[in-house]
Amino acid sequence: MSDDLFMKIINREIPADIVYETDEVLAFRDIAPKAPTHILVIPKVHLRTVNDLESAHTELIGKLVLAATDLARQEGIAKEGYRLVMNCNPAGGQLVYHIHLHLLGGRQMRGLG
Ligand code: 5GP
Repeated sequence: MSDDLFMKIINREIPADIVYETDEVLAFRDIAPKAPTHILVIPKVHLRTVNDLESAHTELIGKLVLAATDLARQEGIAKEGYRLVMNCNPAGGQLVYHIHLHLLGGRQMRGLG
């Protein structure tokens, strides 16, 4: 777990622009934003990839999504629209192995092709 960068953000060992926090969820701005709004929503428990999710995590994943939709409203992008993305493993483009939901908005998103 020591190589878990996002756990270091949770533990305030490295700084981040935190925009939302509950007992179970943290959200902070991406260090290299790919859109005017680019926020990462993460659980506070260590889960490497979405492949590690089990039925016991159902409520937690719901909380991540609801945090993201709240943040989209706060950022003023809810009506225009936005994208939520979770990457998994190398072929999915995952770079940080602590699951995270990307909230991207503030510009027109292109197709996934
Ligand atoms: P992934 O490719 O794993 O889905 O996305 C990882 C994201 O984490 C990338 O968008 C990257 O810019 C972001 N990121 C990597 N290191 C840091 C960091 O130290 N702080 C913050 N705020 N974001 C980071």
